[in-house]
Amino acid sequence: MTTLTGIGVSPGVVLGEVFTISHQVIDHEVPATPREVIAALTAVATDLERRAQAADLDVAKDVLQAQSMIAQDPALEEALASRLPDDIKYPDVRAAIHDAFSGFRNALESLGGYFAERVHDLDEIANRTIAVLSGEVAEAIVLDRPSIIVAEDLTPADTAALDLRYAMALVVTKGGPTSHTAIVARGLGIPAVVGCTAADSLNDGDKVMVDGRMGIVEINPSEADYLHHKTREDALRARAAAVTGPGRLSDSTPINLLANAGSVADSVTAANAGAEGIGLFRTELLFLSRETEPTVEEQVALYSDVFTAQAGNKVVVRTLDAGSDKPVPFLNTVVEENPALGVRGWRLTRNGTGVMKRQLEALAIAAQKTNTDLWVMAPMIDTVAEAADFAAQAREVGIRHVGVMIETPAAAILADKVLAEVDFGSLGTNDLTQYVMAADRLDARLSDLTDSWHPAVLRAISFAANSATALARPLGVCGEAAADPYLAAVLVGLGVTSLSMAPVALSEVRGFLASVDRATCIEVSQLAIGASSAEEAKAIVRARLDELTK
Ligand code: PEP
Ligand code: MG
Repeated sequence: MTTLTGIGVSPGVVLGEVFTISHQVIDHEVPATPREVIAALTAVATDLERRAQAADLDVAKDVLQAQSMIAQDPALEEALASRLPDDIKYPDVRAAIHDAFSGFRNALESLGGYFAERVHDLDEIANRTIAVLSGEVAEAIVLDRPSIIVAEDLTPADTAALDLRYAMALVVTKGGPTSHTAIVARGLGIPAVVGCTAADSLNDGDKVMVDGRMGIVEINPSEADYLHHKTREDALRARAAAVTGPGRLSDSTPINLLANAGSVADSVTAANAGAEGIGLFRTELLFLSRETEPTVEEQVALYSDVFTAQAGNKVVVRTLDAGSDKPVPFLNTVVEENPALGVRGWRLTRNGTGVMKRQLEALAIAAQKTNTDLWVMAPMIDTVAEAADFAAQAREVGIRHVGVMIETPAAAILADKVLAEVDFGSLGTNDLTQYVMAADRLDARLSDLTDSWHPAVLRAISFAANSATALARPLGVCGEAAADPYLAAVLVGLGVTSLSMAPVALSEVRGFLASVDRATCIEVSQLAIGASSAEEAKAIVRARLDELTK
């Protein structure tokens, strides 16, 4: 048995046979005139539009339509004309075609996340155009039996062409958590592992097991091993369905289970999912397309709607975390060399515009109007002075619970002093991981490094949690790490008192925590911080928790 690892992006355990899909790349010269290139591009656009109409799955339809629009964009034709200016037969047009997409490519890459992953869609349009010109368009792939699909990356055209009723699981060597593959798998409710580089060694007909929660692909698994994974997955789901009410460990230690939200609709979803409140409201998401600052009145109205949906629950709001992966036009006006390390979050107060002060006022008014248990925290706090400055400004407008995100190594290391200035802390493990590991959280190529299971990250959390405990300050986690039931147990063992996550993850985390006691959480947290790698930490903690929760 051989185990391949990647990032689990859609849970579930299946055992089946591999069906590989490879993408056509024309590896010889393709001569053409500019007119022929445009005609080929038009043919590709028409074909994409036709596939969009025929696609069963909404995400495939949307992406295919978007691809078709890009293929018809006049800017693309202009870009081609500037690269192939003469009305002659060029000996090889492949580079010119790929190059013509560079404007779109740069625009998408600079947006990061979901948009950056759409760059693969552009490559697909370029490759198809080249295939049409060379007259070598590949035969349609026919999937006619239940299979585990293995590819470099599953493109929208693949998803439209395949009969996905037969897809048992998706495994791709590239891609990240926001890739098309991940979105499609979650939409279909089938397991998926992305960024599984070694999966390129798999062949049609190979027998594999996919565990989409653990990010594991096993070649020729034993029956016992398959059953082990399957039983674990089934148990997680069964516990999720069986346990309701506020978050508790098996020994009744309360662990507040809260939801992350970024809109009024999210606040409603969180309430319906049984969240005990909101643990992170990302206010910048309300203003991502705003060219001008919303007035205090406008903000009061928006925040009031969010609070009303929570009907008296605790709501932790984060002041505008604009910049880097979340640029807000009216705040981030300067182009930065390195925006993740630039003037983002609370650092924007350096500009002296008073935006945060007005936001704090609006929050205080909305909380009073709706009688909400409002907690407010500032993002990207690095220093004791920043924490003190935020606390003073928030308290001045009457906000009673003031806190900071602990998401920089500086704040974690100095948490004894930073948390002394405020009433609570919240670990932003997404950023804390990227900064501790010095690895861009948006770069799928570095996903092995941007793993919050890494003992370096867990030790930083442990450091901050020890300070929080000594100061008797509540310390939550609001990054993605909180949504992994096994990692949640480790975080609790390190001293975290609340967990905030996407509403869909709540029931599984609630169910799992109800099966472990505090002593167990502490035991596994020590195993994790004593490990040498993220893989080792995951393996030993999972094995121990599986044994104890059998
Ligand atoms: C984090 O960094 O972990 C966090 C919760 O904030 P965001 O993902 O919005 O940066
Ligand atoms: Mg953050």
